[in-house]
Amino acid sequence: MAIKITDECINCGACEPECPNNAIYEGGVEWAMADGTTVKGAFSLMDGTSVDAGQRIAPIAADTYYITANKCTECQGFHEEPQCASVCPVDCCVHDDQYNETVEELLAKKDLLHA
Ligand code: SF4
Ligand code: SF4
Repeated sequence: MAIKITDECINCGACEPECPNNAIYEGGVEWAMADGTTVKGAFSLMDGTSVDAGQRIAPIAADTYYITANKCTECQGFHEEPQCASVCPVDCCVHDDQYNETVEELLAKKDLLHA
């Protein structure tokens, strides 16, 4: 299961540098698979869309920080617990029920992101 940021986010920015996968972006900023990963060339997103790793993709939120589930591994393979949730002062980094992934799937995602 990926982590998502709720609209209670106060835009403090504390979570962004803590993410080992560069999955967190400031509201309104476009994201890309290649940011902070080793992903290159064509890449298939979780919704089946095919993109280029360097392609800038429309932001998921405009007014608060957001997490792209395509890059969130719940910190598996790096840390004992989700780092964004650990540092967030208002506890607005919560499980995203849309994405039910096993630990094995999250570790496979981490390997895909950091070959
Ligand atoms: S749980 Fe970890 S990998 Fe996912 S967004 Fe938070 S810091 Fe990044
Ligand atoms: S740490 Fe929490 S409040 Fe601060 S930017 Fe991240 S999600 Fe928003």
